[in-house]
Amino acid sequence: MTFIAASGLWAGIYGVAGAIVGSFVAALVLRWLDGRSVMAGRSACDGCGGILRAWELVPIVSALALRGRCARCGQGIDPIHFRIELLALAIGGAAGWVAGPDGWVGAVFGWSLLALGALDALALWLPDRLTAWLAGTGLLTGALGFAPLWGDRIIGGVAGFGALWVIAAAYRHWRGRDGMGGGDPKLMGAIGLWLGWRMLPAVLLAACVIGLGYVAARRMLGARVAGDDMVPLGLLLAIAAYPSWVLMIASGS
Ligand SMILES: [Zn+2]
Repeated sequence: MTFIAASGLWAGIYGVAGAIVGSFVAALVLRWLDGRSVMAGRSACDGCGGILRAWELVPIVSALALRGRCARCGQGIDPIHFRIELLALAIGGAAGWVAGPDGWVGAVFGWSLLALGALDALALWLPDRLTAWLAGTGLLTGALGFAPLWGDRIIGGVAGFGALWVIAAAYRHWRGRDGMGGGDPKLMGAIGLWLGWRMLPAVLLAACVIGLGYVAARRMLGARVAGDDMVPLGLLLAIAAYPSWVLMIASGS
């Protein structure tokens, strides 16, 4: 009972933190796609240009209360804000649940993957700066002594980058064109620095299963799927990597 109460408390704390971080992540993603700086200016409505007041900026709650519309002009607010805030809440909540006070470690991993996955989904773009941040925080949390072991992480970083680089080079050789984006091997390397090499086969397998499931679902819904359609591999890796961290911590390995 006390375990459940403590887990619930930390899940709540990091869940609320996640909703707040999520609103920042959504702003970062949308402004990077727009070429604006995340620090420039205050949040404004894209319809009427009105500066949003504090009560309109409460993550998740404002979107629900205002039904996703601007209070002044009624223009729909991009639902990406609400979706990212909700995902960030779930990421923080899961981290707090399995790791208690140390949940911030996994939350940083998950929130960073959320930004990368969203940018890959929306623009097939994995910014090097963001991947470098993910790699750097992986090295840092390893140095602070959080699992997995430092050596496992270094091997994971090299193996993750190397494996995808080899797959990409082989595909290019046989098919005569690129099969994945240049950012994908770097992202897999950064994920290896977080999860260690032991988790990487499971992450890659899960990403493939999710990707094939997505394509199969689209076919069943009647969409035409061509062999050269770009599937955002970075997004699939991000979706696979975070639950892998949660399972790794929950199983205590
Ligand atoms: Zn407005």
